[in-house]
Amino acid sequence: MQVSFSPPSITDSEINAVIQVLKSGWITTGPKTREFEKLLSEYCGTTHTLCLNSATAGLELVLRLFDVGPGDEVITTPYTFAASSNVILHCGAKPVFADIKPDDFNIDPEQVFKLVSKKTKVILPVDFGGLLCDYNELKNIIELKKTKFRPKKNTLQQELNKILLLSDAAHSFGSTYNKTRTGTHADFTVFSFHAVKNLTTAEGGAITYGPLKFTDPDQILKKLKLLSLHGQSKDALDKMKSGGWQYTIETDGYKYNLTDIASAIGIEQLKRYDSEIIPPRKRIVEFYSSGIKGHVIYPLFQTESKQSNYHLYPLRLKKPENRNRLIELLAADGIAANVHFIPLPRHPLYAKLNYDIRRYPVADNCFQAEISLPVYPGLTTEQSNYVVERINVHLKQL
Ligand SMILES: *Cc1c(COP(=O)(O)O)cnc(C)c1O
Repeated sequence: MQVSFSPPSITDSEINAVIQVLKSGWITTGPKTREFEKLLSEYCGTTHTLCLNSATAGLELVLRLFDVGPGDEVITTPYTFAASSNVILHCGAKPVFADIKPDDFNIDPEQVFKLVSKKTKVILPVDFGGLLCDYNELKNIIELKKTKFRPKKNTLQQELNKILLLSDAAHSFGSTYNKTRTGTHADFTVFSFHAVKNLTTAEGGAITYGPLKFTDPDQILKKLKLLSLHGQSKDALDKMKSGGWQYTIETDGYKYNLTDIASAIGIEQLKRYDSEIIPPRKRIVEFYSSGIKGHVIYPLFQTESKQSNYHLYPLRLKKPENRNRLIELLAADGIAANVHFIPLPRHPLYAKLNYDIRRYPVADNCFQAEISLPVYPGLTTEQSNYVVERINVHLKQL
């Protein structure tokens, strides 16, 4: 039997929505994207959303909006995909890694507290696997360090007058903290709709924020739009309207817009999200946790204040020396497993920049022991039975 790792959940409704856009005469950013943004704001309980072609673009745009650059530090986790940290490098700022907590793989607020310096402009937590970070603790730290904060000549930094909290919620769309969905806990929250994420548009992402975080949130959206599309005063749709040819370039913006084809997929995914995408994921992770027997640490999906969206199933082996072998044995069975994540200091780029993996022992121990199992709506009962059966056989023999 073959079990792939994370194919997307695509039904006739996504396919038909794409066909409609293709036939509509407008295929790039336009009405579908604006509709998707409205629906995302409603779902998240926020007021402003801008869709983009990736989460990477979203993270970078927020950093650019706040003029984060040379001389600034951004505290983030070493236990993430490179996107979270590479964008800090793109801006010329310095990523400062805070080690993680062993229970949920998320950034450890105690470590963050110790690492805040006069140069810290942003804290960029990542909601690993779908379980949210300790946002209240992170906000407390930002309040405690407020008197030390020195804003640069940037109106938004000056208005905020404290460290910016920017959430990488690439994994956590729909997850909750104190019964409130992601999108509202940080100053800005960025989602990914990449093909392997819970809600997908093939490639895509979004920035969301509000309510009541800034005095002029509409102005922020306007700036973000400028930054996302060549600094143009009009988007392509407005330029195409009869007589609408005039436009100005206000800044050297990027090219990060999302197409209506992608947004049409996203709208259909969002309609199906709570009824058809989350429930099967929940069933599968619960089945794994009750069925897998051996020297393992089961992943956490729920705490008193948090509820995950079941994005990953990050199992850990109590004997990490068996992890690679287990992946090989499963591969021979036709089962694709994965590892989340190789900590950033283990990558040549970050090693060259003098990040030393020995300074992040919790992250490294988690990495050595971790194996992510397949979780997706299309995974059949037969397949999940097979995964559990094969893992149990191997765990016994290893
Ligand atoms: C996937 C991912 C990203 C990047 O998302 P893109 O939409 O591909 O740019 C960022 N952070 C984390 C933690 C991710 O897993």
